[in-house]
Amino acid sequence: MSLRLSFLGTGTSFGVPQVGCSCRVCRSLDPRDRRSRSGAILAGDQGTLLIDTPPELRLQLLTAGVDRVDAVLYTHEHADHLNGIDDLRIFSMRQREPLPCYGPPETLARIREGFRYIFDQEVQSFEGTSKPQLALHPLEPGVAATIAGMPVLPLAFEHGFLRVFGYRFGPLAYITDVKAIPAERYADLQGLKVLVLSALWWRTHPTHLSIGEAVATARALGAERTYLTHLTHETGHAELEQALPPEVRPAYDGLCLEVTA
Ligand SMILES: [Zn+2]
Ligand SMILES: [Zn+2]
Ligand SMILES: [Zn+2]
Repeated sequence: MSLRLSFLGTGTSFGVPQVGCSCRVCRSLDPRDRRSRSGAILAGDQGTLLIDTPPELRLQLLTAGVDRVDAVLYTHEHADHLNGIDDLRIFSMRQREPLPCYGPPETLARIREGFRYIFDQEVQSFEGTSKPQLALHPLEPGVAATIAGMPVLPLAFEHGFLRVFGYRFGPLAYITDVKAIPAERYADLQGLKVLVLSALWWRTHPTHLSIGEAVATARALGAERTYLTHLTHETGHAELEQALPPEVRPAYDGLCLEVTA
C-alpha cells in the first residue's frame, strides 16, 4: 500500500498570520509561517480522501492541485474543520454522484442541522445554481472500514466537551484536536511510520495537547516520524524545528509525505 499525504492547512482556528497581529511570526517572510486552517488530502492507490473541510478549502484545493475527492472524513464539527463544506459541491457536481462523508455520528448530525439547506429536499436548485450533494455515513470508533479503497480505523479521543475522531490508515495516523491519547488507545497506534498529531503551543491548554505534551506522546507511541499540526503564531516554523527532537517535525501547508506499508 502506498499513501501520499498532503497537508492542506496546518494552523489553529485563527490561522497564521492572525488578522490584525504584527508579531514576529505573523510578519515572517518564511512561507512555512503561513498556516491556513487544518485539513489534509490522503491519496491511496484506489482513491483520494479529504480530511475535514476547513474554511479556506477552495484555495487549499487549488494550491494542492486536487481535481477529485472520493470521500470526506470528518474529525469533529468545530468551525475551523467544517465551515468550508460548501466547497464540496464542485466534486458532487463534476463526479455526478453524492460525495460520501464519514465521521462521528454526532458530527454528522451537527452537519445536517447546521447546513440544513444541503439536506433539505425543499431547497431545489434553480437551473444554473447548485448545492453540495452529500451522503452521510456515521463511523463507530474501533470498527475498521474501507473507504476509497483504503483501510480506515476510526479512534475516539476527548476534545473538551466534544468527541473527536482520529484515523489510522495502515502505516499512517492523523490525529488532531486532542487533549491526550489515553493508554488504552496505544495498542491501536503501534508500528506507525508516520503520525500526524496536533499541538497548539508550548503552554498548556484545556482541550489541546501542548507541544511538549505532543512530543512526549509521540515518544511514548514510538512512531518512526511525527508531524505536528494545528500550530499557532506563537511558534515560528524554523525555530520550532530547531527545538524539536529529530523524529518530530512541524508540518507546514503544502508539505507532502509518501508513506508505504
Ligand atoms: Zn481545530
Ligand atoms: Zn501574530
Ligand atoms: Zn476542535
